[in-house]
Order: sequence, then C-alpha cells, then structure tokens
Amino acid sequence: MDTQLVVLGGGPGGYAAAFMAADLGLEVALVDLEPRLGGVCLLRGCIPSKALLHVAKGMAEARHLADWGVSFPQPAIDLAAMRARKEKVIATLSGGLAQLSKRRSVRLVRARAVFEDSQTLKLESAGQALSDERLRFGHCILATGSGPTRLAALELPSPRVMDSTSALELPDVPESLLVVGGGYIGLEMGTVYAALGSRVSVVEMTDGLLPGVDRDLVKPLHKRLEKEFDAIWLNTKVVALADKKDSIEVTLDGQIEERVRRFSRVLVAVGRRPNSGGLGLEKTKAEIDPRGFVVVDRRQRSADPHLFAIGDVAGEPMLAHKAAHEGKVAAEAIAGDASAEFDPRAIPAVVFTDPEIAWAGLTQTEAEKQSRRVEVAQFPWAASGRAQAVGRIEGLTKWIIDPESQRVVGCGIVGAGAGELIAEAVMAIELGAQVQDVAEAIHPHPTLSETLGFAAEVHLGTATDVYRPKTRKETKA
Ligand code: NAD
Repeated sequence: MDTQLVVLGGGPGGYAAAFMAADLGLEVALVDLEPRLGGVCLLRGCIPSKALLHVAKGMAEARHLADWGVSFPQPAIDLAAMRARKEKVIATLSGGLAQLSKRRSVRLVRARAVFEDSQTLKLESAGQALSDERLRFGHCILATGSGPTRLAALELPSPRVMDSTSALELPDVPESLLVVGGGYIGLEMGTVYAALGSRVSVVEMTDGLLPGVDRDLVKPLHKRLEKEFDAIWLNTKVVALADKKDSIEVTLDGQIEERVRRFSRVLVAVGRRPNSGGLGLEKTKAEIDPRGFVVVDRRQRSADPHLFAIGDVAGEPMLAHKAAHEGKVAAEAIAGDASAEFDPRAIPAVVFTDPEIAWAGLTQTEAEKQSRRVEVAQFPWAASGRAQAVGRIEGLTKWIIDPESQRVVGCGIVGAGAGELIAEAVMAIELGAQVQDVAEAIHPHPTLSETLGFAAEVHLGTATDVYRPKTRKETKA
C-alpha cells in the first residue's frame, strides 16, 4: 500500500478532505493535474469572478453617487493591472494551500490519475516521467469536480467564443457580448463585462432568468439588469454560430424579431457536467447515474467500498461550500467516525449579481412543487431605514415557515449584500429556530440584517415598520 488515502482533485472539496484526513492521522496523497492547488473555484471560478465583481461593484457604486450629488469623471480601465491584481489574489490563496499541505505532510502528486482497479491509480504523465507510476491506496476520495456543458450548436473554435475560464482571463473589453445562458455564470460575468463597458445581451432558453429560483427574488434583479444590459431574450435559443473574423454571427430562435445578429464576443454558460468520464471508473464498482454523478450514500461512500465521492462529481448543488462539507464527512468516515454523515437542513446558494440573490433551505418554488403547505413572511426593503439610506430599496427578505412547528425551514433574500445576510438564516434553520426566536433576537440598527428580524415580526404581527394588523389578529386568535 503506497498510501492510506488518495484524494483525487485539489479543489475546495478535495483539499478540505485531504487536510481533514491528515489532521485525523491518515497518511494522505493529493493528486491533481494542475501545478497549483485550488481547483476551478480558486483558479478559474468563484474567487477570480468575485475579484472582478468587486471591481464592478465599486464602479457601480461610484456611478450611483451621482444621485447624491457626487459625480466622478469616466473611469480609466487598465486591464493588465486588473488581471495582475486578480492573479495576485489567486497566487496568495493557492500558495497558502501549498504551505498548509506541507505543514500537514499531505503528499502532493502532480499527475493525471486513472483507475486500474478499486485500489490502484495509474499516474499519467503531466510533463514529468510518471507514465509507469502507480499509486496503491486503501481509500480514495474522488473530488474531480465539473466542467462546462458543451452543446454542438455552440461549438466554434474561435477565441471570440468563450467559456467561463476564458471570460475570466479578461482578454479585452468587447464592444458587444452575447451571454448564452441566464444562470449563475452568465449573469455574474455579464455584470462584470457590462460594468467594464461592454454592451451585454443575454439569451436564455427558459421563460425567466435563473430558472428554479423563486420569481419574486429574481424580479428586482431582472429589472436592474434590463437597465444595465442591452437586451435580455427569454424563451430563446442560439441555433448557430459563425466566425466572421471581426465578430461572431449568431442565429437565434425564439421570441425575437431580428434572428441573425453579430457580437464581438460570445460567452457560453449553459450549465456544468460532473467530471466522471475518462477516469477508468468502470474498472471499479462505483455506480454512475444517467447524469454522470457518482452515486453516494450519506457518508459519501460509493458502491465501491474503497471509493468515496464528494462535491460536483457527487451531485447537485454544485457549490464549493457543499463540496468542502462533504469532503470533511468523507474524511471522518474513512478515519472511522461512525457518526459522520452529510445531512444538512440548509445549503445556502448565492448569485453574486447586483443585487445579489441568496437562499437557503426550502424555497417557495420547491414547496409548491412538493405541494407542501408553508407560510411565507416577507419584509420589503423599502421599509428598512438602512436600505433607504444607501439607496437600495429594491430588496426583499422572506422566511418560509412550517405552519405546524412554526420553525423557519427556508429563507430567500434579494438585495445588496444578500450573500452575507443569508448566513444568519442558515444558522437559524440548522438550529431548528422558530420564527419567534428570530423575531426576538435583537438585530443591530440600522442594518440590512434587521430585515431578517423584521420579516419574522411581520409573520407574528409585531412589525413596527409595516402595518399588517390582520396577521396580528390571526396570530392572537
Ligand atoms: P446554470 O445551470 O446556473 O445556468 C445555465 C442556464 O443556461 C440556465 O438558465 C439554462 O436554462 C440556460 N441554457 C441552457 N441551454 C441553453 C441554450 N441552448 N440556450 C440558452 N440558454 C440555455 O449554469 P451555469 O451558469 O453555467 O453555472 C454552472 C454551475 O456553476 C451552477 O449550477 C452553479 O452550481 C455553479 N456556479 C455557482 C456560482 C455561485 O455560487 N455564485 C457561480 C457560478 C457558477
């Protein structure tokens, strides 16, 4: 046996699992093809996109100050400096991970690994003479993540057609950009490019942006994006792309008048697929479901007793924080902790647009789909002193409440900073708080976090800033 545990994939799920396993006393090897640790999230996903969204936010806020009588000259943009700053963020975090691996004696192996059987990985060359090397292990945690979905109609070998990776490299500020897919990536990157000065259009095949997210949360974002973007085409698909040298000719199909249009660049962000192919998993006993996810139980065990899987490759939602928690569960289970299970009541999700949208636990849409009876308590940010003071009154905070137990089972927020605010809701839901507990917890004034307390008060009929006497009478009855 070369090592007790191999973690395959150095993203936020993989390194969390490797570090936890090492802390629990296991001998760990972490295998990744990349020279740097961090995976998609750190190297070309969550972190660089948030660095660029930080720039977009600063620019939007500076513009917004015109409403308060303060205006600035047009900003001068130095793309090379912006790229360098983004790169510095990545390098710092990735360097930190390398140091942490060293301190924990986690062996880093730079190679492409393919299963030969349930306990052997063949390490394929990554520019080094590894072709004959094999790694034998007791257990393996598969943390290989996901990659962009590719659609035949959108395959065009042109640098003008980008995926999230190339879009994050900021090759230039295109005069016009078509974003295909009105999901997380499309809207976040569309926001960045629009702030930098591109004319951004979005084409989404369903009847709304961010399909699956509660419509009342999406509405304020849609309204704002209609101003920031050139166009948002719903119920529309791209059927063909053609390279016209200085632009991409796009043929659209849907509720749109002019079907053939030209854009300087196109960003394709139509979803992600688990990276479970090409790994030799057929030589193990692991089962793969029809969508490509490795089937796991609550301890992250696959059908093969030697193999665990976590993160994007092990199922939805494809979010880094879910991967990290699953990784820790897998490490604990392998180290012999019989109680280790992944059993959350609430996994938060955040779309880092402006305004942000965040939710956790049960959503109203899911409750409707399940025909589950819930009560919904809402607080419109127009009634928040802080929201008024910062000119962000379009927000909304709502709790989803179980009518019998009066426990909060879900929360949805749209508004500036919603991604930070949702953490309180996660805690309340995880701890099984009742709506009254949330109302009685004193929130600091004047903050946007108050809207969580106020929404709970609306439900109880005790809100100061919203007149809802009916609700109060019902509660008293
Ligand atoms: P997504 O599933 O969020 O959105 C894809 C969108 O593309 C959907 O709205 C879908 O209806 C649309 N679509 C699909 N085919 C289309 C077509 N042919 N024409 C037009 N529209 C089409 O996927 P994504 O934005 O690529 O992001 C992938 C995953 O990455 C997300 O599911 C998420 O888990 C993760 N992610 C998370 C964050 C975050 O947490 N803030 C940010 C980026 C990505």
